Amino acid sequence: MTDGFLLEAPLLSRLARARAVLVLTGAGMSAESGIPTFRDAQTGLWSRYRPEDLATPEAFERDPARVWRWYEERRRAVRGAEPHAGHRALVELETLLPAVTIVTQNVDGLHQRAGSTTVWELHGNILRSRCHVSHRPISAQWLQDSPHQPPRSPYVKNGLARPDVVWFGETLPERPLEAALAAASGCDFCFSIGTTSWVQPAASLPLLALEHGAAVVEINPDETPLSPHAQQCIRDRAASALVTLVSELRAAMQENGTAVMTAAGQHTRKESEHDQ
Ligand code: NAD
Repeated sequence: MTDGFLLEAPLLSRLARARAVLVLTGAGMSAESGIPTFRDAQTGLWSRYRPEDLATPEAFERDPARVWRWYEERRRAVRGAEPHAGHRALVELETLLPAVTIVTQNVDGLHQRAGSTTVWELHGNILRSRCHVSHRPISAQWLQDSPHQPPRSPYVKNGLARPDVVWFGETLPERPLEAALAAASGCDFCFSIGTTSWVQPAASLPLLALEHGAAVVEINPDETPLSPHAQQCIRDRAASALVTLVSELRAAMQENGTAVMTAAGQHTRKESEHDQ
């Protein structure tokens, strides 16, 4: 491999040989699909409120209608959004490497809509709703038929529908968290894309990957607390960075014969000069 790649040559070579890749994404991953990050939201219609003051169980207890309206607006944005070229590049990454696990803090489902197959949602999904008392899922039909804002729960007297997302101060769903921790400790390459690296426990996943010997690369136009620890920080937006990175990876792998897709879609590996 020669220099001049977006990813520094030794890292590109390392990625080409990676057995397990973790991709952690945050709100910045969806920004180019037109879904505002929390920071963008502060400059918009809801600028009078901090998301942290709306995305909490206390806010919902205080004023469920206001919180429901805020989520209605966010749901509208998500329904109108399409995955972008960066989401599709991550789908292509799966065809080049043996195992790619996406762990997302996003609640918009765009990775799945793009076609990524292993996606763990750490913070739930905004298009699902559940009873705020029993936590049982509530169907879209029930919500649609309800005249109330927020709709009443079908299960519990005085219960209300709430978005099936994790609010500040709440615990994360067990299975996605376990899968994320396993992916972080078992990967040999980790990308952190479009996240401030402030919200825990997501922010500690790349650090866990580092501790276990993985290479960590950040993609974010801005510096974050992860930046000093990453082997490389790509100061670009997610879509253009991922498209370039994946096409350079594909070209480098073809050139070096690092991995070859068989007709059955399985990966076989050849020794390349960089594997030695
Ligand atoms: P955040 O809104 O606090 O920060 C977004 C980060 O993305 C910033 O570091 C910013 O520099 C970066 N960024 C902005 N545009 C980018 C681009 N085009 N490409 C790459 N990076 C870009 O988001 P957070 O750190 O993910 O944490 C806030 C919480 O709010 C999380 O739980 C998050 O999932 C949730 N949230 C989700 C959505 C969504 O589902 N789309 C939207 C807003 C907030």
